[in-house]
Amino acid sequence: MIMGYIIAIDGPAGAGKSTVARNLAKRLKFTYIDSGAMYRAFTFKIIENNINIEDKENLVHSLRNTDIKFQNGRVYLDNNDVTEKIRSREVDMLVSKVSSIPEIREIMVDIQKRMVINENIVMDGRDIGTVVFPDANLKIFLTASIEERARRRTKENRSKGINDKYEDVLLEIKKRDEADSNRDISPLRVANDAITIDTTNKNVEEIVNEIIFLMGEI
Ligand code: C5P
Repeated sequence: MIMGYIIAIDGPAGAGKSTVARNLAKRLKFTYIDSGAMYRAFTFKIIENNINIEDKENLVHSLRNTDIKFQNGRVYLDNNDVTEKIRSREVDMLVSKVSSIPEIREIMVDIQKRMVINENIVMDGRDIGTVVFPDANLKIFLTASIEERARRRTKENRSKGINDKYEDVLLEIKKRDEADSNRDISPLRVANDAITIDTTNKNVEEIVNEIIFLMGEI
C-alpha cells in the first residue's frame, strides 16, 4: 500500500479542527477528510431511516451499504448532498452514541484507511493519531477552553441560520466531550507523539503556519 504524507488532527468539539484542517489542506494542496462528517452522515441515515440503534446487525448491514463521499467541500451520503443536514441538533445529540459502537468504528476506520491510499492528506477527528493512523507523519492535538469552544460553535451555527443559545451549545459540547472521552473503544485522547496546540487566543492563519513550521521540524 502506498501512503502519502499524513497529518492527523484530533481534539474535542469546537477546538477549530475542521477550520484549521481545511485551510491547512488548501495551503499544502493536500486532500482534506473530515472523519466526524462520516460519523455524522451515518447518524443522519439512521435517523432518516428509523433504524433501531440497538439492532447491531442491522446497523452493520446498513453501514456496509452506505456510500460516503467528499467532493468540492461537500459531503455526499448515498449520492445525496447532506452537507448542512448532518450539522442538525438531532445528529449532534445522537452521533456520540453511534460512534461508540465498536462494530461501527471498525468499519469506519477501515473506510478511512482506504481513502488515503496514494494521497497526501489532512484528516481530523478524535482517534486519527491514536487508532486510524498511528504512523501519521505529523500528529496535532487542538484544544481550547470549553467556553471559547462553545462561543465558536454558537457563532458558526448562527452563520448557518441555526439560532441555538450559547448555554445550550455549551451543555451539548460538554456532554459530547464526556461521551467521546469516556467510551471504551478509541476514546478521545492525546497520542503520545502528538503536539498540542491551544487555539484559544490564536487565529486560523497562525495555527496553520505553526503546523507548517512543525512539518519542517520533524
Ligand atoms: O468532529 P465532529 O464534532 O463533527 O464529530 C462528531 C462526532 O463524531 C464526535 O462527537 C464523535 O462522537 C464522533 N467522531 C468519532 N471519531 C472521529 C470523528 C468523530 O468518534 N474520528
